[in-house]
Parts: sequence; C-alpha cells; structure tokens
Amino acid sequence: MKFIPQSYKIPDEAMKPFIDIEEIEGFLTSVKPDKARVREVIAKSLNKNRLSLEETAVLINATDPQLIEEIKNGARELKKRIYGERIVLFAPLYVGNLCQNNCAYCGFKASNSDIIRKTLEKNELIKETEALEDDGHKRLILVFGEHPKYNPEYIAECVRTVYDVKKGPGEIRRVNINAAPLDIEGFKTVHESGIGTYQIFQETYHEPSYAKYHLGGKKRDYEWRVTSLDRAFEAGIDDVGIGALFGLYDWRFEVMSLVRHVNHFEAVYNVGPHTISFPRIQYAAEMNIDPAFAVSDEDFIKLVAILRLAVPYTGMILTARESHDIRKNLMEFGVSQIDGGTNLEIGGYAEDEHDQNIKREQFKLNDDRTLNEIIQELLTDGFIPSFCTACYRQGRTGQHFMEFAVPGFVKNLCSPNAMLTLAEYLEDYAPAETKKIGYELIEKKLKDIDPKRRAETKEKIEKIKTGIRDLYF
Ligand code: SAM
Ligand code: SF4
Repeated sequence: MKFIPQSYKIPDEAMKPFIDIEEIEGFLTSVKPDKARVREVIAKSLNKNRLSLEETAVLINATDPQLIEEIKNGARELKKRIYGERIVLFAPLYVGNLCQNNCAYCGFKASNSDIIRKTLEKNELIKETEALEDDGHKRLILVFGEHPKYNPEYIAECVRTVYDVKKGPGEIRRVNINAAPLDIEGFKTVHESGIGTYQIFQETYHEPSYAKYHLGGKKRDYEWRVTSLDRAFEAGIDDVGIGALFGLYDWRFEVMSLVRHVNHFEAVYNVGPHTISFPRIQYAAEMNIDPAFAVSDEDFIKLVAILRLAVPYTGMILTARESHDIRKNLMEFGVSQIDGGTNLEIGGYAEDEHDQNIKREQFKLNDDRTLNEIIQELLTDGFIPSFCTACYRQGRTGQHFMEFAVPGFVKNLCSPNAMLTLAEYLEDYAPAETKKIGYELIEKKLKDIDPKRRAETKEKIEKIKTGIRDLYF
C-alpha cells in the first residue's frame, strides 16, 4: 500500500498491501469446512467476535445444505439477539450523472452516448428533497457520477442545501454520500458540511478483474480506489461505508476481501466501517459483463448470512436493486438498512413519473414499491421501520458498534427511538391503514422495553401526537 496515513500509529500488520490475492486464495483453497469447525465459527460470531479470514473461509467453503442452514440460522439469531427488529429506511437521491469513467457495468459510463445526462440545479435539488420529505423520508444518500463538476465544494454545497430544506413537518436529518474518491483536502471539505457516512464501493477487490471492467477515466486506478477511505479517515471522517459489486468476480473472493478491508480499518484506525453494501449487478444500458461470476439467489442469501456473521457489528444495506421477494427473504438474516420508494432518475422524485426509463437511469431497479408499501409490509412482518438519526446528532459515533457492544443499548435507546420516528411518520404521512397497524405494532413492542424507558417513550409518543417533533433519547 503506497498511501500511509500520517496521524496514526500503524501496526506492522497494516503496512502490507491489505488485499493480497495469494493470501485470500490460499485460505479459499486450503480451509476445510468440517461440521465441528463450522459450528465453532458460528458460535464465535454469536459471542460477538469478528471473524478472521480463515474463519470466514470456513463458512464460505461449507456446501453441505444442513451447514448452510446453520449459517443462515446463526445470522438470524445474531440479528435477533443484538439488533432487535428495527429496519432503518433511507432514499438515494441522484444529483448528477455526468461521468468521465468507463465502468463496463454502469449506464452512466462516459461512452454511453444514449443516456440523457443531467445535473440538478439548486432549485431542482430543493424540489427533489421536498418530494422526499413529502413521502416521509428523514435520511438520504446523495449519489454522483465522477466529473470535475462534482468537486468537494459542489458536493458540500449540495449537502448544505438538502439540510436547509424544510417542507411542512419534513426535514432531512442525515445526508450520506456515495461519490468518487477524493483527496484528503476534498474529504475534509465534504466532512465539514455535516455528512453522515461517506460510502465508496471497491466494485471488485480482485485487481485483474478490476482492470478488465474499468476501462477509462480516473477510476481505472485500483490503488487510488482501494485506499480512498484511508484518506477519508485521515481527513477526520470516521463513518465510512464499504461494498463490493457482486458479479464481477468470484463472490467468495469478494466476501473475503470485504472482511480483509474491515480488518485493515480495525488494525489502523481502531474502528470498523459503519456499513457494508453488497449490490448485485443489475441490467444497465450498454452493459458488457462476463456472466461467469453472476451470483445466484441461493449463493446471494448465503453470502449475506456469512457477512452478517463475519462482521457482527456493522450495518448491512440491501437496496431496491433486489426484488421484493429477495428483500423480504433477506430481512431476517441481518439486513439493517433498506431504501424505500426509490427512483433513480435524475429529478425523478419531483416528477411523479414512476415508469422506469433506462435512458435516464444507472441500472434497472427491481423493487419499485412506494415507501408506504414497504413500511406496511415491514409492520405486518413485525419489523419496526425506523428513521432514527439520534446517535449521529448526539455525537454518538460508532453507533453500530455501540448497539453491538453496550448491553441494553438497542433495547433502551434504539428501539424507543425507532418507535418515536415511526410515530412521527404515522402522524404526518401515513394513510389510515398504515397508521392503524403502526400504532398496534408500537403498542406490542413497547412491552419489550424496560418499564422506566417504556413510560418515557409513551410520554414522548403522546407529545408527538400533539404536534411536537424530533424527540429522541
Ligand atoms: N460514481 C461513483 C462511483 O462509481 O463510486 C458513485 C456512484 S455509483 C453511481 C454507485 C454504485 O452503483 C457503484 O459504486 C456501483 O457499485 C453501483 N453500480 C453501478 N452499476 C451498477 C449496476 N449495473 N448494477 C448494480 N449496481 C451498479
Ligand atoms: Fe461513473 Fe460511478 Fe457509473 Fe463508474 S459506477 S461509470 S464512476 S457513475
């Protein structure tokens, strides 16, 4: 690794290039997944330990259907035991699709002359934000192509604009970013605008495959990308999201690499990523991808369960790239955040036009339900939809780690906060039917909270019913 952050004491372990193909392939070819070992590894994760590369390979190499079932049960149990039934909701807001790169899988690639290029003007960004607030959203991720126009000052200005939009009872309380890697100064500029998470996906950690699919522009530089979040850390951003785009190379290698990336952050900065994303490639205009590494639904479910067990303290994001069925199915295996009412067209939220037009989108969406439809289903399935941003606004960083490490944190902080933000949604945006099942669920889930906190939560919900907003613990 060429880039070495200056302000940290770097252990020897972290001085090596942190993705070592031989090391990862060595584990994948040599580790034997015998029954006893698989069970031991699942138990280690359930005891709140991150798994090593060798242990992750034990789970990856397990192919016996009974063991796979045990891995899935382990992930289910971990989610239930540690995180409870909350699912955090957010929306992506595409700000602009100008792009100088040529990523073979993406509809925004520079060589795609068919796509309609657009960057939101300030007034359009305000309109998009208002439309999302009108749906009930409180958390957004702003998404950008890679282009000189989307420089750090521009991104920071977009963040400030979004935070300033208040429509009726609506406001955006957390703005995350998915944009190109920046230099340290650039990350500082964006950090100062008050972002939540800066998310960058490595796409594939396998350097030869990376070279095969990144055919032009700055993104061709594997090293610049793989060290991007180190620069973010050095700029003071300790809330980062990592991810791999599944389907470019062997999913087993990508899972191992994600764990290696986590392990690198822990070794160097003493903190892991806030979230892990695991998008699977979807159809995009002019896409040219070797189907050899397409991930089947069966493998996808297995890999999500393995990631949940391997890094038990991070948030796990599952987007509307996946179908309704897959999302419903995966919710119990440790997913903690999903998007709802998603529209990928630049300016699409304010337009009220919901048919997909691939000439205006990065890729095809498979779950185009409205936010309310998604909330209704979560409620019916016993999950608490949450728009909570309390930790971030209280300066409680490392939220997922605290949920994981501090006894009673979820039960007495996260669950009540989820209910308070759900109550706001039910009062301000929900149709009658959702409101009814929402309050029924809150009534039921209040019983799981300690008596003192339960009484305080009920009191705050009564205040919400009288019009007071933004109450949290
Ligand atoms: N342009 C920035 C970048 O490349 O990092 C950020 C935005 S990009 C629009 C967000 C992510 O979308 C990419 O990192 C990639 O993983 C994902 N993506 C691109 N094409 C996709 C496709 N066809 N199917 C699913 N996800 C895709
Ligand atoms: Fe551009 Fe990002 Fe799409 Fe690559 S993935 S073409 S960088 S928008």
